[in-house]
Amino acid sequence: MILSPATARVFSLLWQERRLAGYISKAELRRAIEETFGTEVKPGERKQVEADLIILGAGPAGLSAAIYAGRAKLNAVVVEEGLPGGQAATTYHIANYPGTPGVIRGRELMDNMLRQAQSFGVRVDDYKEVAEVDLVGEVKKVVTEDTDYYALALIIATGAKPRLLPAEGEDTFRGRGVHYCATC
Ligand SMILES: Cc1cc2nc3c(=O)[nH]c(=O)nc-3n(C[C@H](O)[C@H](O)[C@H](O)COP(=O)(O)OP(=O)(O)OC[C@H]3O[C@@H](n4cnc5c(N)ncnc54)[C@H](O)[C@@H]3O)c2cc1C
Repeated sequence: MILSPATARVFSLLWQERRLAGYISKAELRRAIEETFGTEVKPGERKQVEADLIILGAGPAGLSAAIYAGRAKLNAVVVEEGLPGGQAATTYHIANYPGTPGVIRGRELMDNMLRQAQSFGVRVDDYKEVAEVDLVGEVKKVVTEDTDYYALALIIATGAKPRLLPAEGEDTFRGRGVHYCATC
């Protein structure tokens, strides 16, 4: 496939922003297009979402909190900047989670957690990078590229990002021999 110079430039800008899970956010895509073409990408109309509880991050911590919130019949919304699953979803297999039959693929384990949270009525909004939070006052506000969320309580479960090594092959073998957790 041959890319036009402009498209190649957009891809190279996005490559610099890449994350462990490989996705890019809408804000990054907009910035790359604006920088390449020198034009402003006009945002659409902002959406407003009200909830009892907002959970930032849909990794194991955020989804566990979501399951409890759903069971407690709270109107809870999980806001995730990429696909739900967090770091655990990027690894080939996980052997130390209780209740899994020996070994489970990270993606499968996290899909199960997502479905469990959704089965209790929790809403999960993916591809919504949290850019700003306002924790002053009774109602907390969370701002993403196109949506403002309001709730009385907020749980921050945005996890961690491992420091990458400047080592050849790290990209290829991430989760297949290259790990970032102490037990691995
Ligand atoms: C390759 C690899 C293999 C691993 N293997 C194992 C294993 O076998 N066993 C084990 O127990 N542990 C393992 N771990 C560690 C385990 O994955 C982490 O301990 C666990 O994922 C931490 O969960 P968390 O929910 O706290 O954070 P995370 O998993 O980091 O999730 C945080 C979530 O928040 C989101 N987020 C961050 N910033 C924002 C923002 N601004 N707006 C919106 N969302 C945001 C992220 O996209 C992410 O989905 C492994 C980790 C890696 C990387």
